[in-house]
Amino acid sequence: MKNNNKKSAFSLKNHIYMMKFLCKHTPFMVFGYTFFDVMANLPWALSNVVLLKYIIDVAAEGRDYYRVAIALACFVVFVVVTNLLTTLFYEISLPKQKEKLYFAIYKTIYEKAAKMDYEAYDNPEFYNDLVLAMTAMNDRAYAILSDAQEVISSVISIATIGAVIISIDPICLLFVALCVAIMTPIGNLIAKINVERTEAMTPLDRKNLYFSRVFYLQDYAKELRLSGAGKMVEARYNRNIADRLKTISPYLAKQWQLYFCQESLPMTLLIYLGITLIMGYKAIVTKEVSMGDFAATFNGAASISTSVFALTSQFAINIRENGLYVEKFRRFMDAKEKMVSGTNTTVFKEPVTIKFNNVSFKYPGSEKYVLKNINLELSPYKKIALVGYNGAGKTTLTNLLLRLYDVTEGSITINGTDIREWDIKSYHQNFAAVFQDFSLFGATLGENVSMNDSPDDKKVQKSLMASDFRRKLPNGTDSILLREFDDDGVSLSGGEAQKIAIARAFYKDCPFAILDEPSANLDPVAEYALNQSMAKATDDKTVVFISHRLSTTVMADEIYMLEKGQIIEHGSHEELMAQDGKYAYMFRLQAEKYIEEE
Ligand code: ADP
Repeated sequence: MKNNNKKSAFSLKNHIYMMKFLCKHTPFMVFGYTFFDVMANLPWALSNVVLLKYIIDVAAEGRDYYRVAIALACFVVFVVVTNLLTTLFYEISLPKQKEKLYFAIYKTIYEKAAKMDYEAYDNPEFYNDLVLAMTAMNDRAYAILSDAQEVISSVISIATIGAVIISIDPICLLFVALCVAIMTPIGNLIAKINVERTEAMTPLDRKNLYFSRVFYLQDYAKELRLSGAGKMVEARYNRNIADRLKTISPYLAKQWQLYFCQESLPMTLLIYLGITLIMGYKAIVTKEVSMGDFAATFNGAASISTSVFALTSQFAINIRENGLYVEKFRRFMDAKEKMVSGTNTTVFKEPVTIKFNNVSFKYPGSEKYVLKNINLELSPYKKIALVGYNGAGKTTLTNLLLRLYDVTEGSITINGTDIREWDIKSYHQNFAAVFQDFSLFGATLGENVSMNDSPDDKKVQKSLMASDFRRKLPNGTDSILLREFDDDGVSLSGGEAQKIAIARAFYKDCPFAILDEPSANLDPVAEYALNQSMAKATDDKTVVFISHRLSTTVMADEIYMLEKGQIIEHGSHEELMAQDGKYAYMFRLQAEKYIEEE
């Protein structure tokens, strides 16, 4: 019970949080939704009670029937005017307000996600909350508003009709109160079972989402067609569906029994039977009340009970469920960045010395050192290659240099200053980075190179030349890439896409470039051409590049060979060949792919 109260208070807090958000971003929707819903529903609720009573009473009096016509005319005018206003709101204003709400929610989520440390994506809890916020929050925010408005309009109609009933015969309200007293705890129980049901189904829902991804993402489409994976996934999917049915069945059975008890017993016995008997007796036998009073109290009591039923069952369920979603949204919004941004805003015009001073690193949540005691110096304008087996720690080293993670021990300094002193945004302006898993965006070719919405066309073309991108697109650098924004959007080969990603590094005016396997998707001819032009295009930068193809490392001024998170060899290509160590062995082997390091 205590736990239940705690959960309700939690749920209330979450609803207040979301209502504040709604009031801040779409105040007209909050006000309009509530006001117009009351306007749309109250006249009907009252007509069932007050107007009906008036008409029956006038009919019973047997004179001045014109009063009925006047009452009906007033009612019709009122209904037409409220209908006009409510349809204007619901059909014109509300859809626009909904767009505004969705915009506000997604903007809030995008901004928060972009601000979070990169390492937050390694945290499954943060990632799950992010996915949930992205996929469900707009519908939930809207549901919270529509439920709140339904609650308000139900409460108003209960209070108004209740007042009318009291004025006719307070005893009827006693029946209603009894009905509410029975319905409320049963409704709470139904809502509690619903939360348990949702919790039990959550892992199975997650699996279902995975199956949808497998069938709609292009990434899986080839495998599904060419291998037997389709059957394998289908078998797992069938098992999941069977599990879902098995899990949900006992909850449904319990809920059905409670719904039946909640709806049929108090409603049938207390309202339909109880009030009919009492008020019927008073109207027909003792004639204490009129026939109009009888009809009004019967309809009013039924309408109150229906509203209470909705409040105690469906709304109670929705409130708890929506509260859980808001809870996750809040947790996502409240997640704190661990990486502390400093105050240094220096953006270097020219390369300066970067040093790794005894750097060791463990990924968050992991006990294993991925880098151990790394000492290296990146001198200005040098082309530095990082080589080594898969898993040696090369990408991690560049991640630390880009301050996507902070070092666990030691320090990285630029021009003698610890990089942790930098404001992170300013720090990143010093670097151009091309990642192994680079992404192209649904934007023009020019924007994909400049990474802003006002590309300098000449510079874009020069950068594309330098990265050896030679394909002529129909609209030049204005051609849209990918199909999301344009049916005629250009699809590119892996190599072409990689050249565009490399061109970004040439476009950006900054002193340092980090290239993680820049030639992985290129054929040997393209790789040779890239090597030739890369040296020229980056002669104003310090370049750190990771390469699995040792033919590209020949051009490097310095090579660092990593193994198990440590530097095992260092020197120029010639020096390392003369040393005849692991680099020389690998170079001779000219392996294109290295086996996993154990
Ligand atoms: P390389 O670039 O040399 O192939 P990486 O730097 O990518 O190697 O990886 C070094 C080690 O760090 C590997 O054992 C890898 O499994 C681990 N690792 C990489 N990324 C993460 C991460 N986000 N969380 C935990 N471990 C990671």
